[in-house]
Amino acid sequence: MLKLLGKIGLLVCALAAGAVWLVILRLKNVPVPLLVAYGLVLGVFVVAMAWPGVLGRLSTRRRVAAFAGIPAGLGTLGLYLAVVYHVTDLPVLPALAAVACLAWAVAALLRGRRTAGDPGARRTRRAFLLGGAGLVLGVMSGLSVSRVEGRRREVLAGLERQRQAAVRAAGTRKRVADGAVRVFPIHTGDTIVTYGQFYGGLDGWEGLNGYVRTLVDKAQIAVPVHAYLIDHPRHGLLLVDTGVNSEQAWDHDGYYDMTSRLLTERDEYRMTPEQDLRVQLARLGYDAEEISTVFLTHVHDDHAGGLRHLPRATVVMDRRDWEHGVLYPHSFELVKDNLSFPAFDSGPFGPFPAGQDHFGDGSVILLPTPGHSPGHMCVLLRLDTGGVLFMGDTLYTLPHLAVDQVRQMTIGGADTVRQIGAARRIQKMLASDPGVVPLFAHDNTRYQSELVASAFADGTPGEEGLRALRAHMDTVLTPGWRLRPGHAPHFVPPAAGTARGRVEFR
Ligand SMILES: [Zn+2]
Repeated sequence: MLKLLGKIGLLVCALAAGAVWLVILRLKNVPVPLLVAYGLVLGVFVVAMAWPGVLGRLSTRRRVAAFAGIPAGLGTLGLYLAVVYHVTDLPVLPALAAVACLAWAVAALLRGRRTAGDPGARRTRRAFLLGGAGLVLGVMSGLSVSRVEGRRREVLAGLERQRQAAVRAAGTRKRVADGAVRVFPIHTGDTIVTYGQFYGGLDGWEGLNGYVRTLVDKAQIAVPVHAYLIDHPRHGLLLVDTGVNSEQAWDHDGYYDMTSRLLTERDEYRMTPEQDLRVQLARLGYDAEEISTVFLTHVHDDHAGGLRHLPRATVVMDRRDWEHGVLYPHSFELVKDNLSFPAFDSGPFGPFPAGQDHFGDGSVILLPTPGHSPGHMCVLLRLDTGGVLFMGDTLYTLPHLAVDQVRQMTIGGADTVRQIGAARRIQKMLASDPGVVPLFAHDNTRYQSELVASAFADGTPGEEGLRALRAHMDTVLTPGWRLRPGHAPHFVPPAAGTARGRVEFR
């Protein structure tokens, strides 16, 4: 009876290990033929174990070893598939076959040695044949790895040449030094997200459930990644967030370590050489070296990537994000000695119980808005004509201000509560100061692509420009922060021949 229970338990383990890996591999877009092969191996093992009499002649010790070894073997095989697939493109099959052949050859050789007489000699011959085949397959897989690697370097070098050409071609715009504060939106490529991650917070995209759905759900959209340059007559050149860097977008496998690669998609970011931060700064007449301060709204990699180009800047961010939120430390490597953590001890600011008057003259106020990350902060920039509230990822778009109707995915529990609290404070701040306009990091609506783009085209929106943005806001939202008709987001599945869907407001 105990033996039977043990057998059932081990079978369940084997099935679970195999099934978990099947799911993970599918999520990581491992090709279907590989999954079928893996499923077949799994099936054969299970049938062999369940069949009465199989393994019957083995001693108890060996039987236990075999039972324990099978789930371990399946798990390792799955891990191997996942890891190898994420290092290279398709040399998986020959590599896998080479490893199997060599392992088999070693086993045959060991058994051949132990058995005396003819059958032993036959086994030895077989072992050498298998070993030879394994070596050939290994060389094949090595060659294909180096071909894939060579191609990767070639593509990267080509893109880098285009980027450098774009920097040289820029440099025509003259800076205007008339004492006005200038703000330039900088679109550093796009990120691919699931529709639910962006808009599904009230449809179950919360906590662990939400995270799993971001891996499984194939309803994807592309949203822009924005950083903002501030040319301030008193405080120099400042950046709010830094966007993605070109390596992140073009060389995902080279940039991220193994764990990060398993957790992210290869095509997470898209960027043309002209969208590179350095190219865009050059176009505006600036140099990345001149940036003195970066206000990082939070640590996420689509905001911190550009830090790789700004090793001299002081990076101002909430200490809680640095201590609890860094998932991809690579982006911070060059600036980790230049971090500055605000104390948030300048007293309350409107609806915010605490804030930091960064320069002490009321020009830049840092406002803690935790929730999206442990130490998320928004940045309020005062202009003569009003103000700009840089939202980071606290809210993604104007419709997200209707936080009871449209919500991004939230972490769950206390973090969701904090996130909603931050949104309500922002509502109050905007309601009490009609001269302030919100600017978002990932706005994929008309507000960003048309209105903000034209109002900030030369960096100075003026009173009229700010009023136009607020007027648009009033066409989207009621004074009670509800959506007006025609502004609820809906996912439109991809048309034939296109990879991603889009968002329609109706
Ligand atoms: Zn973001």
